[in-house]
Amino acid sequence: MDASKKLRHNSDWRYVLHIVESAALGFSHRSIAKGLNSGPAPIAGPGGGLWYPNAVARIIHNPVYEGRQVAPRQKDGSRRFEVYRDQQGNRVRVFADGCEPVPYELLLRARQNASGNRLLDPAVRVANRETPHLLTDSVMCFGCRRTASVRGLSHVCWRGKDALACAEPLSVFRTALEDYVTEAWFARLKATRPEDPLLVVAAERWTGLRQTPEMATELADALAALKTAEAGVQRLVAQQASGFFDPPFDTHLPRLQYEARAALDGAKRRVAEASPKQLDVSFLLEDERLRRAWDEADLSLRRELIRLAVRRVVVRKGKRGAHPFNGDDRVEIHWLDAPDPWIPQAEGEDLAAAA
Ligand SMILES: [Zn+2]
Repeated sequence: MDASKKLRHNSDWRYVLHIVESAALGFSHRSIAKGLNSGPAPIAGPGGGLWYPNAVARIIHNPVYEGRQVAPRQKDGSRRFEVYRDQQGNRVRVFADGCEPVPYELLLRARQNASGNRLLDPAVRVANRETPHLLTDSVMCFGCRRTASVRGLSHVCWRGKDALACAEPLSVFRTALEDYVTEAWFARLKATRPEDPLLVVAAERWTGLRQTPEMATELADALAALKTAEAGVQRLVAQQASGFFDPPFDTHLPRLQYEARAALDGAKRRVAEASPKQLDVSFLLEDERLRRAWDEADLSLRRELIRLAVRRVVVRKGKRGAHPFNGDDRVEIHWLDAPDPWIPQAEGEDLAAAA
């Protein structure tokens, strides 16, 4: 930025151009991120860590690269940006004279590819054809303890053709299984303790940001304080509802309400301050916001998020004539933070100690 508060191109500008050009050519966000992270001289992502598909997406959709000033849009808690307009309603140019923004046509094509509105270049389409589904490589057959493959609309154990290889081959509708595992994953996240590293790692993956161990500790403390403050507010509401503060015992109520609200506001501020680059973790604990973020995440990010917590998904053969799919009867999720039930106990502990 120069003295007139206008942006100038810095050394990162060529990576921005590279990202937009690659997306315009039809490469997926995931393959672009992978490219930046690999090679002899990997490019550091936002915050100095790795690139993730959603960080790529944020660049492609950020109007600042059209050369317009942006204002964070936070009404709905989302992290998107919208174009800032001055009091006359005009868009405000952010680049200094002589600095060109990303060609708008290029950005447009990159965005259209991102939303799948344009047919891809055939060569790129072939490269993307083997895009895995949400649980590809994670679904295993209860009968033979081997990976099930995706066939048509289902995950199936192909060894079932040979009764010696697998006596109880699974076959399960892919989307029914995906929904079941996704719900279990939501429940697992909501049940996390604030000090659970899963929460922070998931938020990092979600936002493409990384942080130091000290920041992680402060964030965990701040989240613990937030939970305490929320419990305090709820307790007060419950006490009030039960008549605890009915006259003449209502004299202290306004002060208690004020204190509880102040504690909550303070805890929220602390979480926001402890969040690296405004890494927002609280959305993972709120059902509605978590679901919205999940809906907005692309498939590769969802795959990554599931794998942060899930070791494998074991599915039993369905009972003949048993419809519809009953996940509780047929599915066992092996979580990464629990001992692996497929490794004998003592041996499993040795492995954990060695790791
Ligand atoms: Zn099998």
